[in-house]
Amino acid sequence: MEKITGEMLPPDAPVTELKNVGPKRAALYQKLGIETVSDLLTFYPRSYQDFTSPKMAAECRDGEPAVIEGKILRKLPPAYIRRGMVLYKLTVTDGMQNFTVTIFNNEYAYYGVHVGETYIFAGKWNRLGNAGSLAMQTYLSPGEAATLRPVYPLTEGLSSKMVQTNVQDAIARALPGLPDPIPDAVRAEYGLIGFRQAVQEIHFPESQEQMETARDRLAFEELLRLTLALKFLKGRGREKTRVRVQRPDLKPFVKSLPFPLTGAQKRVIAEILRDMASPYPMNRLLQGDVGSGKTLVAAAVSYAAIQKGYQAALMAPTEILAAQHEKTLRKFLEPMGVKVGLLTGSLSPKQKTAMREAIERGEIQMVAGTHALVQEATAFHRLGLVITDEQHRFGVHQRQMLGEKGDHPHVLVMSATPIPRTLALIVYGDLDISVIDELPAGRQPIETFSVHSDKRERALTYIRAHLDRGEQGYIVCPLIDKSDAVSAAAATAYRDELAEGIFKGYTVGLLHGRMKPDEKEAVMADFAAGKVQLLVATTVVEVGVDVPNATIILIENAERFGLSQLHQLRGRVGRGDKKSTCILLSDNDGEDNKRRLKVMKETCDGFVIAKEDLKLRGAGDFFGYRQHGMPSLGLADLLEDTALFAKAQAAAAEILQADPGLQKPEHAVLKRQIDEMAAESGKN
Ligand code: ADP
Ligand code: MG
Repeated sequence: MEKITGEMLPPDAPVTELKNVGPKRAALYQKLGIETVSDLLTFYPRSYQDFTSPKMAAECRDGEPAVIEGKILRKLPPAYIRRGMVLYKLTVTDGMQNFTVTIFNNEYAYYGVHVGETYIFAGKWNRLGNAGSLAMQTYLSPGEAATLRPVYPLTEGLSSKMVQTNVQDAIARALPGLPDPIPDAVRAEYGLIGFRQAVQEIHFPESQEQMETARDRLAFEELLRLTLALKFLKGRGREKTRVRVQRPDLKPFVKSLPFPLTGAQKRVIAEILRDMASPYPMNRLLQGDVGSGKTLVAAAVSYAAIQKGYQAALMAPTEILAAQHEKTLRKFLEPMGVKVGLLTGSLSPKQKTAMREAIERGEIQMVAGTHALVQEATAFHRLGLVITDEQHRFGVHQRQMLGEKGDHPHVLVMSATPIPRTLALIVYGDLDISVIDELPAGRQPIETFSVHSDKRERALTYIRAHLDRGEQGYIVCPLIDKSDAVSAAAATAYRDELAEGIFKGYTVGLLHGRMKPDEKEAVMADFAAGKVQLLVATTVVEVGVDVPNATIILIENAERFGLSQLHQLRGRVGRGDKKSTCILLSDNDGEDNKRRLKVMKETCDGFVIAKEDLKLRGAGDFFGYRQHGMPSLGLADLLEDTALFAKAQAAAAEILQADPGLQKPEHAVLKRQIDEMAAESGKN
């Protein structure tokens, strides 16, 4: 069919309706998730080339984007590098020094510029001794308006120039038909520019300020939509529960403990009990730094539910953790007359069946387990409370499945990756939040060193001194690559080397992901009982393992771990009242790594560390949005846009106050978008 260029397009028209977009380019767009014209309009630039204030070559920094104005002195003949790849070079002067402009595979650019003329070149600057070269991306000819030019996150075969042209076309032909999702009243109250103006100006701003205003407006909209969606979906379709845990008596439990509860533990227990007494199922996130005593809170509230005739389940991400939880729960709850069981995938079929039957009959009141718990075959007698440990390992979906096991049981999610409250509101939007912001008394900060591997010998001797005092230690093994088999082999070899060398005469245990579950459990039991003095392990010890007598941990190749992961690993020590030490071995002197190790040395506060980690990695990567069924944000930055976020939250609250069902016409666009988001996240 002939394309009628110049004609207006509906926003959901396929991109092929645009000028210069054929099936080939449409396929490239599809790779970027762009199918319709409105997808393209909200495909925002990643950055801009600022042609408004070009720099001198001497001001440009190695490896960074640069915009330089210069006169072409010479065009060098094309150099054919490999098949189909041509490198063009220009010698250019900025009036002070000569430099090279390299043009890769773009003959149009090369033949489009002329010796003696002055252009503004944009690209990446590479310093070469005293001179330098600019790997050119685009240029402006004399007479072209010097503005900000958008740079898009591209895929091979698509250039920013192509996208610019297509976006221009889409702006002209489809943007006028797009409604503004934000109602006029909200726009007026928060001083926001209109949607169409914002889209136009984020793609083609005339100045930095204009671009920022447009960005803020669109980021506000994203945050508003997200907040609204979370609040709206949370309030909607809330079914009541018959599980009511009213006025439990926790005194016997508290009295049986060898230590007093911390103030924070008491507070969160009260918050949880209030939820469990209400006619609506609890959906609560319990955040607390490593070692803050979350498991104890889990035991306390499980006890409350069990006292009222319900069963409680605690789900852990690994077998080791599930087994450990079972032991802890047994220790705290069996003296109270509670029957505790363990259900994991590694039980024999016979054991599994027996355990499932005991659960179904209600003989087991408290069950710890892995995902085996959520499998179809497990039915509960009277499930009242579901607790999942280490939330980031479970998807929303698994939680829901467990939630469906009983008659809308209460759900508590425990996470040891503490994040700022505003972020938690978004990421765990469907949950209420409790925070344990206090460690048990007597905890000492873990002294943390980072050293090069040439000091390994000394570090190992230092560990030996700890063992000689009757304490225990961990060595976390180099993570050689992603393969379990390779790191298992490395851990095994390393353990043998240590056991026959510097730790001869000590008991050195081994723990890695390739071991059989009962082998793992045996080692953990021996370590917990003090029979194994030193545990050489892969990152399977990362979460939750709790042996308070362990006071030293050495982490090999520390540069391979993220900050939060290092914090988790370090959290294996410092769990009692003895002074603990963490040694981070790393030969990597890169800036990023140095910064991470510095953070580790300076603080043991999980909140501070999580925030730094977020900054270093970016929120999307940190949370693994997809796993949470979270829509990723295009422009808004959950860490940086806190002020904007606060405003968006206020606006969302006002909107829902006035129109709880989002039924008014001025909220129709937002409502439709929210429904789409919900449908989208339901698919995960
Ligand atoms: P996490 O929050 O990392 O799961 P745990 O629940 O494993 O922490 O608790 C860490 C250690 O602190 C455990 O050995 C636990 O018995 C102990 N503990 C928990 N609460 C207290 C408290 N109020 N006072 C002293 N020790 C406590
Ligand atoms: Mg724990």
